[in-house]
Amino acid sequence: MAQKLVVGNWKLNGSLAANEALLGAIGALDGVEVAVCVPFPYLAQAASRPRGVALGAQTVSEFQSGAYTGEVSAEMLADLGCRYVIVGHSERRALFGEDDAMVGRKAAAALRAGLTPIVCVGESLAEREAGRVLEVVGRQLDAVLAVVGAQALARGVIAYEPVWAIGTGRAASVDEAQAVHADIRRWLAGQGAATVRVLYGGSVKADNAAALFAAPGIDGGLIGGASLVANDFMSICRTAVASGA
Ligand code: PEP
Repeated sequence: MAQKLVVGNWKLNGSLAANEALLGAIGALDGVEVAVCVPFPYLAQAASRPRGVALGAQTVSEFQSGAYTGEVSAEMLADLGCRYVIVGHSERRALFGEDDAMVGRKAAAALRAGLTPIVCVGESLAEREAGRVLEVVGRQLDAVLAVVGAQALARGVIAYEPVWAIGTGRAASVDEAQAVHADIRRWLAGQGAATVRVLYGGSVKADNAAALFAAPGIDGGLIGGASLVANDFMSICRTAVASGA
């Protein structure tokens, strides 16, 4: 039985002192894979502790090396001990102009360096209200598939993150999340990638994690705000242990 995966996304938060306290209060647990995706400057700090917690970054360059000022390559992330990198987070798509094709190229860059991309997909509220969830999520997934191919895709992780649920305190209901996860799973199975883990992200908290993680097809969570509070994050991780695979 595969373990659930719980990934903290610290976003643009942290300082050496604050991270020290947070990292000192989180840790690996039997029965769940725990990861933290931290800002680039803190990767080395997070790599040195805590043991058993996988390291990840929040974005990556599509380029490997060269005249790309300010960029950070997947190879550099691997060099620093990263296992994961988030690609296509809705904040990157909305605020930094990352389109579907670029997300595909970033996923490919991650895979090339041996990292596991956590590919974020999800619809806006307007898209949901227009009944376009499947179309939007399908388009985002197809774009990644077109660049990386089915075989490489099978080495990734998908995170379904409805945009309207991120940072709003309004998580998707279990039924809403489960329905989209089922569609993503059908799509993955069609690509011969049925074993890919599909996480849910969007206002997961200690008090709603149990219901979400118990739903069939939800393999864990991508956690934003609650990953900055050690007790809340560890409580979500314990919930993942309790809900099994
Ligand atoms: C996220 O940023 O990926 C996220 C899910 O944020 P939050 O948990 O704060 O909604």
